[in-house]
Amino acid sequence: QTDPTDERGFKGHDMLAPFTAGWQSTDLHPLVIEKSEGSYVYDINGKKYLDALAGLWCTALGGSEPRLVEAATAQLKKLPFYHSFWNRTTKPSLDLAKELLETFTARKMGKVFFTNSGSEANDSQVKLVWYYNNALGRPNKKKFIARAKSYHGSTLIAASLSGLPALHQKFDLPAPFVLHTDCPHYWRFHLPGETEEEFSTRLANNLENLILKEGPDTIAAFIAEPVMGAGGVIPPPKTYFEKIQAVVKKYDILFIADEVITAFGRLGTMFGCDKYNIQPDLVSVAKALSSGYMPIGAILVSPEISEVIHSQSNKLGSFAHGFTYSGHPLSCAVALETLKIYKERNIVEHVQAISPRFQEGIRSFSESPIIGEIRGTGLILGTEFTDKSPNATFPPEWGVGAIFGLECEKRGMLVRVAGDSIMMSPPFIISPSEVDELISIYGEALKNTEQRVAE
Ligand code: PLP
Repeated sequence: QTDPTDERGFKGHDMLAPFTAGWQSTDLHPLVIEKSEGSYVYDINGKKYLDALAGLWCTALGGSEPRLVEAATAQLKKLPFYHSFWNRTTKPSLDLAKELLETFTARKMGKVFFTNSGSEANDSQVKLVWYYNNALGRPNKKKFIARAKSYHGSTLIAASLSGLPALHQKFDLPAPFVLHTDCPHYWRFHLPGETEEEFSTRLANNLENLILKEGPDTIAAFIAEPVMGAGGVIPPPKTYFEKIQAVVKKYDILFIADEVITAFGRLGTMFGCDKYNIQPDLVSVAKALSSGYMPIGAILVSPEISEVIHSQSNKLGSFAHGFTYSGHPLSCAVALETLKIYKERNIVEHVQAISPRFQEGIRSFSESPIIGEIRGTGLILGTEFTDKSPNATFPPEWGVGAIFGLECEKRGMLVRVAGDSIMMSPPFIISPSEVDELISIYGEALKNTEQRVAE
């Protein structure tokens, strides 16, 4: 019915091609971004775009924060690299670890382990949990439970944990030790007449039944994003995390919070764990940790786990795991400055203050005949296009999400498209007038998409 082709001759359906990154070829007709300034980026033809996804959910301080450039330059001049193997390290990585432990207050954490990305953080979580259970003499407690529609990264293990079929198909994934439980998307999956609380109870019961079926002694950990990001921005239904945490605790299963998108203010709280009263054993962070300016990820490890790993009585030998660039001094210096700026500028309060304008502005389009649901919290928001009923999706070949994405792009705004879901997570520093511009472009793109769907 529709031919979502933009002026670059770029087929809308290509926009639906999920997650492919890293290929560099002009025959793929990429949109080439050359420059950034605050909440905007510019392509090589000088066209300006409001960056409604903050790069890839990460440039929280926008694209031109001079203090981050200064922090990077100063560190480059002083010590561009030293590693952190064999108990050697650098001052920026030590300082950042301390700062991270002080910043995370949902519960007391013990130690920090640095990686270069969110995927590496989640891969490292698996090895860390296995090592911990081996040290405790329970080598069979190995399986991980993740959720349908989750995204935890692209490496073999992180893609296995993810609950998106495209990441498994044709890759022989997920790995056999990974199980998936329900996606907590109330609007799409609730039964007729079921309340949000009842839906959460049913999902917690399903989780418990899965644990009992597999054998609680075989399940090592449960991993969850506080708000699912790449799966379509799915905040938890009421009482969900309270009930899920009770189940995992009952069976001595560790809780891993994947805060790669949600950490440092995105939801209007410093961490997603603060918002949903999650007391995790392990946390993964990346992205906004350095405002996306340098690659870095980290795991926060509970004191109980880090004590077992570092205890003298642990006969397993060292936790033989790490990367050349773990705790890279340049990444750590930039991340440290990023955390300082978040605190100095009360970034969480700014997100709290600006997010109603963003959330309410976009929700004013809820009645559109092609919108099924608008959902989100703080500065993260997803729109799902359907013809209103949760079960009535548009035929994929219509490419409705892709059309909307192209309509935004034409008008100078970049959003994330995944099937008929589109996602936005603007920089934390977005101003009221930029939010108004975002809403206005969204409205115009929606109007044109409605017309093209009706044709
Ligand atoms: N976890 C979550 C929740 C993510 O959203 C992502 C990336 O989008 C990752 C992990 C993977 O992070 P990276 O792309 O840095 O490997």
